Amino acid sequence: MNKQLKNILKTYFQLDHFRTGQIEIIEAVLQKHDVLAMLPTGGGKSLCYQLPAYILKAPILIISPLLSLMEDQVEQIKLRGEKRVIALNSTISINERKRYLTSLKHYRYIYASPEILQSDYVLRALKDAKISLFVVDEAHCISQWGHDFRPDYSKLGSIIKELDHPPCLALTATATKEVVEDIKNTLQFRSHSKTFIYSINRPNIALAVEKHASIDEKIGRILSLVRSLKGPGVIYCSSRLWAERLAQILIDTGFNEVGYYHGGMDQEQRILIQQQFLYNQLQVVCCTNAFGMGINKQNIRFVIHFHFPSQLESYMQEIGRAGRDGLPSLAITLLTESDYEVPKVLVESEFPSYEKLYRTIYYIHGKQQSVSFNEIQEQSGLTDIQWRYLEYHLSALRGRYLDPDTLITRIWTEIEKRIMVKHKKLLKMTDWLNTDGCKRQKLLAYFNEQPPVHTIENCCDFCGMAYKDFEGESHYQTQTADIEWERELYAIFHKASD
Ligand code: ADP
Ligand code: MG
Repeated sequence: MNKQLKNILKTYFQLDHFRTGQIEIIEAVLQKHDVLAMLPTGGGKSLCYQLPAYILKAPILIISPLLSLMEDQVEQIKLRGEKRVIALNSTISINERKRYLTSLKHYRYIYASPEILQSDYVLRALKDAKISLFVVDEAHCISQWGHDFRPDYSKLGSIIKELDHPPCLALTATATKEVVEDIKNTLQFRSHSKTFIYSINRPNIALAVEKHASIDEKIGRILSLVRSLKGPGVIYCSSRLWAERLAQILIDTGFNEVGYYHGGMDQEQRILIQQQFLYNQLQVVCCTNAFGMGINKQNIRFVIHFHFPSQLESYMQEIGRAGRDGLPSLAITLLTESDYEVPKVLVESEFPSYEKLYRTIYYIHGKQQSVSFNEIQEQSGLTDIQWRYLEYHLSALRGRYLDPDTLITRIWTEIEKRIMVKHKKLLKMTDWLNTDGCKRQKLLAYFNEQPPVHTIENCCDFCGMAYKDFEGESHYQTQTADIEWERELYAIFHKASD
């Protein structure tokens, strides 16, 4: 078996050795177990389903959370010469979709979003194609989003059943014990399932948290970090406005090669920024958490959090984008007192307030017919995300003929529960930021992992780390560089005339 797998690795992937965990996971998949595998970011999770495709006789279905991620994977598969790959998503026209759907069984890899599987038509076609393996990439999304604004994630279990229960492979780089259980339950893993958890520690990423007195001081710090650190780098902000503002400040200060990225930009613009960054035309991207998932860029040298994320899972995902090439990289979080309020508000704003909930339910009740989101938005000011959350709960409770007040009470109880869970996660995040001990140890402990035995040279700000190890030749043409150049020239001439 091993020999056969190695041959495939060489022939189809042009690789010589398996990485930690890959062979065990692949074997379990081929033995038709349901498998949950946790490997670090950049650890090579894609291979765990892409390789079995050359042994399994029928197509593999991969559930992927983002359009850009899907497109990126498809492109990479095509680059290595495999043409039998397709992505089913909202960008393909109805006509095209019809054509693809009738020929699904000819594909090796079929990528799909959880949302598109809700279509009976698509589901029937997949059933006819006799899917041999059901993969959920970035499976922590089930837990992170499935309960709230991407409810279709929580329906994946019943979809698997509909497809006559092919073996399921769930892949993630960040899951606590509870999240692992949540994933397995949601996907309705059978009793002989296997779980592979490998260290998600990224020893080449140094961890630092810096406390600053004010936002202005943080901005000053960003400027000096971008000036001195070896790029390329990513700077995470909590809002679209800040992503744009920071990029503008950097540009105004004289850094070229800086861009911004967030969910409010149109698709074309976002792809442009992503590509420019991938091809090293941009050195720094200021962005919201919309940026980065699945970006297979090897040489990101630093990830700075201008604002911290609302949970350690997101933090781990975001810093994990640094140093995929294994070279020393840096993760810095800049912290100031006023930062603590923002994520609290963000967490709550994902859900309808009591007042909006009340108004929406009574509005729908009064209508006695289906209502559009536009109507709802006009009536109660719900955001898209809040409406999606509500819609899901309404449809889950449908058929029980509940009166509006009972509905409101039920849903509100649910919302309060979710907000509490999220606040707890936020508290773990802020605890970590303020930890007095080793940052790595504490971070790994959150994911139930023992700290590494070996000491790491640049571990964290508590254990000691040297910023100068991450400094280096910068490609930016900054004004300061020009000024220094002038000074150099002046010095040379001055000396010459002495
Ligand atoms: P992730 O675990 O984050 O999904 P990927 O599957 O995207 O990681 O893989 C990250 C990189 O590692 C890719 O460029 C991939 O080609 C490479 N890779 C995967 N497996 C191996 C291997 N066995 N040997 C060498 N490179 C590998
Ligand atoms: Mg991946």
